[in-house]
Amino acid sequence: MRDGETAVLAIEDDADIRQLLKALLGREGYKVTEASSGREGLRAFHQVRPDLVILDVGLPDLDGWQVLERIRDMSDAPVLVLTARSTERDKVRGLNAGADDYLTKPFSRVELLARLQAIRRRQVAAREPQAMFDDGHIRVDFTHQEVTLEGGPVLLTPTEYRLLTALVRHAGQVLSADQLIELAWDDPSGLAPARVKYAVLRLRRKLEWDDDDSPLETVRGFGYRYRQR
Ligand code: CA
Repeated sequence: MRDGETAVLAIEDDADIRQLLKALLGREGYKVTEASSGREGLRAFHQVRPDLVILDVGLPDLDGWQVLERIRDMSDAPVLVLTARSTERDKVRGLNAGADDYLTKPFSRVELLARLQAIRRRQVAAREPQAMFDDGHIRVDFTHQEVTLEGGPVLLTPTEYRLLTALVRHAGQVLSADQLIELAWDDPSGLAPARVKYAVLRLRRKLEWDDDDSPLETVRGFGYRYRQR
């Protein structure tokens, strides 16, 4: 990721939407490269190495999911998926396939810009790890490995601490059981996703987050998310 201008690759076969993206994002200071098919998009991805990708699902040659899979083989660049369908199944599929966010068409300009800005903020935050997470409810001091809940100290096991750290560092993002195993366990080999389920249950209980309003959400069919207040 470079400083200054953010390079966006828009892969979309609808010329009107491409025009809209180019005009709208151009005004906001993004440098937009357009592609009208999946193959053209992948070629452009190689050439431009964009900071983020806007990807339509319904494309004439490769569909968006195939394009996303190939992008994920070579890069972690954030991908915002545009989908004409808004069913829960599509959203889960998008997240499973490694999309960072998705937007259902027709979308508002304001919403598109807000999503892109949120993705950029997460990108910058991931590049410059913070020394502290504090949302006024829970505070995690990554340097001293101390956790404070509503001002009072909490004692966590090393695995619980790493689980919590992984979740708050990715606040707002859904993490799969496999991702959490990679992030929170010393030796992830052979661990079943059920281990994550029980570790999450214990962590919730310890933090008294086991009510309906828990900030540590289960996203059915996909994983877990820390919902920042
Ligand atoms: Ca399309």
